[in-house]
Amino acid sequence: MLGGMLTTVTSTHCPYCALQCGMNLRPAGEGGEGVEVVERTDFPVNRGALCGKGRTAPAVLSSRVRLAGPLVKNPATGELEPATWEEALRAVAEGLRRTRDGHGADAVGVFGGGGLTNEKAYTLGKFARLVLGTSQIDYNGRFCMSSAAAAHQRAFGLDRGLPFPLEDIPRTGCVILVGSNLAETMPPALRYLTELKENGGRLIVVDPRRTRTAEQADLHLAPRPGTDLALALGLLHLVVAEGRTDDDFIRDRTTGWPDARAAAMSHWPALVERITGVPVPQLREAVRVFCEPDNAMVLTARGPEQQSKGTDTVGAWINLCLATGRAGRPLSGYGCLTGQGNGQGGREHGQKADQLPGYRKLDDPAARAHVAGVWGVDPDTLPGPGRSAYELLDALGTDIKALLLMGSNPVVSAPRAAHIQERLESLDFLAVADVVLSETAALADVVLPVTQWAEETGTTTNLEGRVLLRRRAIQPPEGVRSDLEVLHGLAELLGWEKGFPTDPEEVFDELRRASAGGPADYAGISYRRIVEEDGVFWPCPEADHPGTPRLFLDRFATPDGLARFVPVTHRAAGEETDEEYPVVLTTGRVVSQYQSGAQTRRVAELNAAAPGPFVELHPRLAERLGVAEGEPVAVVSRRGRAVAPARITTGIRPDTVFMPFHWPGEGRANTLTNPALDPTSRMPEFKVCAVRLEAAARAGGQAPGAGRAADQAAGRAAGG
Ligand code: SF4
Repeated sequence: MLGGMLTTVTSTHCPYCALQCGMNLRPAGEGGEGVEVVERTDFPVNRGALCGKGRTAPAVLSSRVRLAGPLVKNPATGELEPATWEEALRAVAEGLRRTRDGHGADAVGVFGGGGLTNEKAYTLGKFARLVLGTSQIDYNGRFCMSSAAAAHQRAFGLDRGLPFPLEDIPRTGCVILVGSNLAETMPPALRYLTELKENGGRLIVVDPRRTRTAEQADLHLAPRPGTDLALALGLLHLVVAEGRTDDDFIRDRTTGWPDARAAAMSHWPALVERITGVPVPQLREAVRVFCEPDNAMVLTARGPEQQSKGTDTVGAWINLCLATGRAGRPLSGYGCLTGQGNGQGGREHGQKADQLPGYRKLDDPAARAHVAGVWGVDPDTLPGPGRSAYELLDALGTDIKALLLMGSNPVVSAPRAAHIQERLESLDFLAVADVVLSETAALADVVLPVTQWAEETGTTTNLEGRVLLRRRAIQPPEGVRSDLEVLHGLAELLGWEKGFPTDPEEVFDELRRASAGGPADYAGISYRRIVEEDGVFWPCPEADHPGTPRLFLDRFATPDGLARFVPVTHRAAGEETDEEYPVVLTTGRVVSQYQSGAQTRRVAELNAAAPGPFVELHPRLAERLGVAEGEPVAVVSRRGRAVAPARITTGIRPDTVFMPFHWPGEGRANTLTNPALDPTSRMPEFKVCAVRLEAAARAGGQAPGAGRAADQAAGRAAGG
């Protein structure tokens, strides 16, 4: 049963990824007590297409899989037991207050999520800084797009995932897609690449795996994981050597070229081939295909970003765009394919450790004064910047003794996850607001069940920077409350009777004022405009401003209007392979699960399609290990051991294995991953770590092969 009956068709957006596909909801089932997703062809981004996750999203509205009421841990038994909302909110307020009074405001942490609506992210940041007075707030979006955001800021003075709408992609001449598997992560977006090719454009895919996306490419470059920085530098080297730079663009629209050029020239093709494994003729071919058309784009995703050098890696791809004049012009540019549902908006309005709403900097006195004015407080009362996501989680149980967590499941999604689970277990107090009893919620002292997607109204900002409205279609069940109601209730109990409204539109109107004049300016955007215009692109400073689908056409957002070349050079991953750990592990997603799987693992149809983790490996590696398709493989890193069935394919390099990260337990990929952080973005290195493989013992039998490290090292040498 759902919470309440839907009587009319409601246009809204998918609860999952950053494409934010448009969809309609209509009554379903006898008596109309259910809801089903139907096509919404008038929304331009997906034109009615949906992936299986979007189509099955109503399944998570069912009371059979979700939390029905608050839970509070019984100290005598250690078990979570049903409680009233009043008891649960009082327990949370008391837990946070006790910690703050006993250990100081920064002993209380707050952790948010890239799936929260703009209104929730804004209110969570305000709650942390005003009510709790803590600087210790960050969110799981740090794990997702922060390196691209940092590189954007550095080069262009502004971070918006795509500086152009998706509709421009089919009309450019060439796209280099780096570390993105759209066929699995956002299938409806694949049509933009199909149309590109139908229009005569060319597609180059950079990925260590021959993914379903890579199979669409005219040219597939498969570098060793963690070496795409060298690859981009090698391409730029060839651009210079072959006289393909756009010297007018470099002179008129950029600064810093001589140093970036010098850095690229030290990455000559033969060296780049040795580092990446990509043959020189392929490098030359890529440069030719990229440079020949009048327009071209580079699009990156988690591949280059989730590295301890992610900011520099993205920076190298931006340098390639700038040197060839493929930026700040129609149908050309660099863009990041944001991943999480509100990954873009979630990083703009104050749940990030160093930010205030409107993408303002927390250490900027003018920004503090503006936002404090909107909030009606003295700017000096606002705390300063806090720790980044992994550093915050790593400090749990030591410096940070209590945590309020909303919309995140770090037990599955954080790097070095077993350690993070221990840190969560060592807290004095943990409160989790979520839709379902996630693996993290199961550790909490108090669990607050909240509304979701079709039960609430709020805005998200998709990967294009288009602000959208998700609309409430049905009444939520009796026992749940919205995140805004939760924060309102807690604020009241902690002495803030005003300032935390529960009406999303009222929150959005305040967010507009707080963002006014900032880099991500929403001042001119209203709920009414979003509905009438199929979304509004920020910046949109006035009510009569048309919004900004295309950025940087006249000037970049730097003080002098020029884009910045930043000189970058290749460096090793945080953890390189060696005799003991001779194979590279890279991680990612599959089409039928989403992020930590907290929602999608509860959908029967999705579980049937993607029932569990696996280890993808090359036949040569499988043979050395002595495992056959489907047999268990243990993957061991310096941080732990995970076991999952082998999936053998020639579509992966022989020196590399791949695991999807959606599952907890024995097959949890993030047990293995390395929390080495990028020095600028503080993003962990999910895409590269050193492992060894062992053929795990079959039930009732011996391990079929020794899987010795030296044998695997031989595989590495062969992988080249
Ligand atoms: Fe939802 Fe993303 Fe699938 Fe579209 S592509 S239906 S937004 S999960």
